[in-house]
Amino acid sequence: MTTYLVRNASILGGEPTDLLLEGGAIAAVGDNLEPNGAEVVDAAGLVALPGLVDLHTHLREPGREDAETVDSGTQAAALGGFTAVHAMANTEPVADTAGVVEQVWRLGREAGHCDVFPVGAVTVGLGGERLAELGAMADSAARVRVFSDDGKCVSDAVVMRRALEYVKAFDGVVAQHAQEPRLTEEAQMNEGELSGRLGLRGWPAVAEETIIARDCLLAAHVESRVHICHVSTAGSVEIVRWAKSKGWNVTTEVCPHHLLLTDDLAATYDPIYKVNPPLRSTGDVEALRQGLTDGTIDAVATDHAPHPHEDKDCEWQAAAFGMLGLETALSIVQQTMVDTGLTDWAGVAQRMSLNPAQIGRLANHGRPVAQGEPANVVLYDPAFSRVVDPTETASLSRNNPYAGRKLPGRVVATFLRGRPTVLDGKIT
Ligand SMILES: [Zn+2]
Repeated sequence: MTTYLVRNASILGGEPTDLLLEGGAIAAVGDNLEPNGAEVVDAAGLVALPGLVDLHTHLREPGREDAETVDSGTQAAALGGFTAVHAMANTEPVADTAGVVEQVWRLGREAGHCDVFPVGAVTVGLGGERLAELGAMADSAARVRVFSDDGKCVSDAVVMRRALEYVKAFDGVVAQHAQEPRLTEEAQMNEGELSGRLGLRGWPAVAEETIIARDCLLAAHVESRVHICHVSTAGSVEIVRWAKSKGWNVTTEVCPHHLLLTDDLAATYDPIYKVNPPLRSTGDVEALRQGLTDGTIDAVATDHAPHPHEDKDCEWQAAAFGMLGLETALSIVQQTMVDTGLTDWAGVAQRMSLNPAQIGRLANHGRPVAQGEPANVVLYDPAFSRVVDPTETASLSRNNPYAGRKLPGRVVATFLRGRPTVLDGKIT
């Protein structure tokens, strides 16, 4: 196995130093380390972060290999600086058995670009009625700890309560897609003055907030752990802040697109901006950035949701919900959180690596960039600037909402257990 000497990397934005990556670990950190035959990577001007961890990725395999495969999606992940992703369960078939989660886990190992941790469905077929084989998935080779019906809300309070109780046995967590179904029937975009004007059915903030409030209360009642997926409203942040102030075991994530884009983009009627939960108001964006700054929101998660051309290139009402996100996440976080002074690179590492790894109970990810730690490292150039070209992607889909936008930063290299999955900005 090749040894790598990373020269003059700025760990979490600190003073430049060298890193020796050997035998899957960070063997040494210090100035002027001797190469001793190691492959040298010049990292002058680059920030070194722990490999990023995504709690929310749709890899689409099995079933929708026309949109994405485990191989293509994990290449996109590596290009975005990720060394671990959680693959959502809404595949075809649904990942609701030990057999399917093991299949996804094995495909991830074979592809080798990024560790894949399958998320298990909470209910059979995402039907919302009968609990899936949570214990069997937890005991499987895939060692599932995160369970979610994402794409659908576990709306039945009794089913949600049972799931929360069940996962305690193996320190699991239920990740809720908070969307009250009756309040969002046929909903198309954020409910407000604009949805009325555009003639698109409104998606009220309260449809998200009622479920979050209920699930915080349920998790507290049964003393379990709940994770709220993709919070998108100011009210959601406020409810979670309250729940955390009670000491309850509630964690949350926010998507990069909800930190940057707003609902006025719907006025273009371009379904590239159609996403679940919908883009919200500037006030919501402000509250989300604030929540991520003060720790109310624990993590950034991409909700990378690839869709083939035909599912997005149609009128708004008929188009699928979702956006790509893996390859742009770090740039969006730099633009919205670092360049604005809301957080620093240590804060980015916390929210995009350490915290998501902790929520997913991943022992060997989300570790500090320090001697003796696993060599999961990303080298990032924050001074770089690019105009996003949606054809420049490893994803099989092109639904990139940032096409044509100027974004800061570029992932130069990603190391997974000391082996480069990306070098010079390209898949190895
Ligand atoms: Zn979702």
